[in-house]
Amino acid sequence: MSIQDNLSRVQESIADATLRTGRADGSVRLVAVSKFHPADAVLEAIQSGQRLFGENRVQEAEEKFSGVLVHHPDVQLHMIGSLQRNKVAKILPVTSCVQSVDRRELLLEIEKRAALLGKSVDILFEIHTGEESKAGFASEKDLFEAIDLLAECGHTRCSGLMTMAPFTSDETNIRASFRKLVNLQYRCQQEYPALDFSTLSMGMSNDYRIAIEEGSTMVRIGTAIFGERPV
Ligand SMILES: *Cc1c(COP(=O)(O)O)cnc(C)c1O
Repeated sequence: MSIQDNLSRVQESIADATLRTGRADGSVRLVAVSKFHPADAVLEAIQSGQRLFGENRVQEAEEKFSGVLVHHPDVQLHMIGSLQRNKVAKILPVTSCVQSVDRRELLLEIEKRAALLGKSVDILFEIHTGEESKAGFASEKDLFEAIDLLAECGHTRCSGLMTMAPFTSDETNIRASFRKLVNLQYRCQQEYPALDFSTLSMGMSNDYRIAIEEGSTMVRIGTAIFGERPV
């Protein structure tokens, strides 16, 4: 199967799940996760019409996308992996959204570097909802303390929440994880009515249909598009 075929199949399946839940076609965005795959794979996906990509490692993302973005200025890259503070300056020039904001210090560094670059960056707060690696905010208190900082951040724009479900075949656990994110979105909207929490980034190759059924607005799919990653 080519990347083009895979993309078509994934897009159809996203459309099916979206319509099945009574939502408008196109209300779930697809992030093509190209980590571990070469720039040629990204270019093939671009030729098939894909414009939004995700990477999880700074060095790799910067090397791959600094060239791609020169030739395709309408392409967007989201950072989806855990991010060290000292790597923020390197990733910001090639990224439009950091989905993995998991602590206050990271938010402040993103704001500082975005201000220096004179650019505006979208962020999602990553929430721990049961996944094994325990990435993300684990308590509402810590999350709200981070959100409070946004009042002083002129270059960092909140657009929602992100999570990873546990890697399991137990659908009940997966759904529980996604529901936690939806509930937290509701709490955030109540507490911070002036901020935008409309994006729910949840769902990967193995669980994106479930995620869409639970209300995802953005799925991050690697394997089902680009094939297995070398380990
Ligand atoms: C790798 C990765 C994905 C994509 O995973 P697949 O199972 O290959 O679809 C999604 N989100 C994050 C945060 C990732 O690191």
